[in-house]
Amino acid sequence: MFDTKLGDEEGRVRALERLDILDTREETAFELVATLVRQTLNVPMSGVSLIDRRRHWFKARRGIDTQEFPRELSFCSRTIDQSGALLIPDARVDPLYADHPFVAGEPNVVSYAGFPLTTPDGYNIGSLCAIGTAPRTFTLEEVEILSNFAKILMDSIELRQTASADALTGAMTRRAWVAEAKAELRRAARYDHPVSLAMMDIDKFKSVNDTWGHPAGDIVIAGLSNMTMDLIRDSDLFGRLGGEEFALLMPETSDAQATALAERIRSAFETQSFDIKKGDRISCTVSIGIAHARTRDDTIEQMLERADQALYLAKNGGRNRVVSSDDR
Ligand code: GH3
Ligand code: MG
Ligand code: MG
Repeated sequence: MFDTKLGDEEGRVRALERLDILDTREETAFELVATLVRQTLNVPMSGVSLIDRRRHWFKARRGIDTQEFPRELSFCSRTIDQSGALLIPDARVDPLYADHPFVAGEPNVVSYAGFPLTTPDGYNIGSLCAIGTAPRTFTLEEVEILSNFAKILMDSIELRQTASADALTGAMTRRAWVAEAKAELRRAARYDHPVSLAMMDIDKFKSVNDTWGHPAGDIVIAGLSNMTMDLIRDSDLFGRLGGEEFALLMPETSDAQATALAERIRSAFETQSFDIKKGDRISCTVSIGIAHARTRDDTIEQMLERADQALYLAKNGGRNRVVSSDDR
């Protein structure tokens, strides 16, 4: 580990932004750590906080109502100014914190222990904290628990970064998707479980870029991605193969179920419109090709090939439709 780079606020904010984690949805590892901190330290409140330039945002929280508040109010913002734990045994008698609105009023913070979340290159991007409503001396062992959980969190932040690095859409990158899809296909073959693949490509997308500009096109791409991620299961693998093309691998899913899901995505996308500039809304359609694993030694490349052929038929058939390679 490098030395902590305290005081380089610009570098710190850039490090945080590179991780693409602010304002993302709930993720299991963070939720579980928040729960474990609450249980093992026996406190009513716990949180994984990320300190943005001007705000405190919770990636996960337990027993805390608000997801974010101004940075000036944040105890964790003090934690990240140092390299070890920040411990406050009784905020009511601490001249630094006695008048703080969270101490004097709701949620009546009395004790606090926070450990910085430090990137491998030494920036404190947030903190893992335990908060009590009674005075309390945190033990060395408890600080060690926080420090170890903080390391686990940083590992999963790094991992999620390589697993889902597409900055525009939050979908997996092509490389990550192919790697995970291969592993999933092996699992499905071992247990003889069904698995289906959908390839999606936005229709007449060049004209969106040409008419409304590239940034508007980006909004539509991100829109399809967000919408799809809302409709799929946690176990589905969703990746951006490139441009306005996506792939979705669906474990435990028959061809009929995959076609039904693809149809829901197609129809939801058709009815959605996107705000691209003040007052200008546009809508698009998407074509989807489906392939189903046929044999135990079907490869992801073969499945992509069949899904692509089905997609081609969907385009030729007039676009805005779902075609399964098993229909032919
Ligand atoms: P079709 O209905 O046959 O799919 O027609 P299409 O116009 O969508 O054709 P195609 O799929 O070949 O077009 C893809 C276009 O997407 C071409 C490229 O300029 C644009 N594109 C690729 N990546 C991006 C991106 O990241 N952002 C934006 N805005 N456009 C992109
Ligand atoms: Mg395309
Ligand atoms: Mg297209």
